Amino acid sequence: MSWIDRAFPTTATPSDLVGRVLGLNPGMMTGPGTNTYLVGRRDPILIDTGAGVADYPALLARYLAERGWSQPSRIILTHRHADHLGGVSQLRARFRGIHVAKMLHRDPSLPESIHDLRDGQKIEGDGCTLIALYTPGHASDHLCYYLAEEKALFTGDVVLAGSTTVIPAADGDLLDYMNSLKRLQGLEVRRIYPAHGPVIEDGPARIQEYIDHRLMRERQILQALGDGLATIPAMVEKIYAEVPKTLHPMAAQSVESHLKKLARDGRVLESVVRDAPSRWLLVR
Ligand SMILES: [Zn+2]
Repeated sequence: MSWIDRAFPTTATPSDLVGRVLGLNPGMMTGPGTNTYLVGRRDPILIDTGAGVADYPALLARYLAERGWSQPSRIILTHRHADHLGGVSQLRARFRGIHVAKMLHRDPSLPESIHDLRDGQKIEGDGCTLIALYTPGHASDHLCYYLAEEKALFTGDVVLAGSTTVIPAADGDLLDYMNSLKRLQGLEVRRIYPAHGPVIEDGPARIQEYIDHRLMRERQILQALGDGLATIPAMVEKIYAEVPKTLHPMAAQSVESHLKKLARDGRVLESVVRDAPSRWLLVR
């Protein structure tokens, strides 16, 4: 599957307890679009709301009707990024008074009034129990949800199908992210329902791939530093030589997040140079 797969079905029922409705927002960052999930036998809990695309509420309503449901019982969000939270207002307009919750964390200016959810909190639905898991790194407010009945994980943007996740420079943190992956690895997980792309049947294998991928990048960056490359652009040139130049700005973000992690680990030092890219040095 290519990342932006326009043939990706807009709705699906991957299990007795889980339905999927696509947010209809395909793109470079979202692949086929954001998956929103309906969990439970009746009165389903909706996980995420897409980006607020005009056609989404009608698609959701059509899928609900197909299942014999009138509306979601409540909405829970994985994190504050616009392609997950952007559909809240249109759904509130359609489903008056619906309860919306996410982990409130560094959220001074949410566009909506949203209830707080904390790590470990259980959300009970009809025939399903979701447990909120605080998993920062991609975003500082990120929750995954563990579906106990299936030993399945709704990973939001922590684990995706078909791409690695971005660690944004401002609010992301690679050390937190690696710790979040290790935390997920410690759970008994079968399936993963990612926020982008199809169901991942072998959850543990994918989590391990993600960890291995980051460790490989870290080795490449340490190698580049050892070879005397000291700036992010120089390291990107070398490490991402095979990758189209248009993707280099994203690659630069990734290298920066690795360098910040290595700095937190005490293995590199940043020296800020005025009007030029920072220089990074190995701690000997
Ligand atoms: Zn995100």
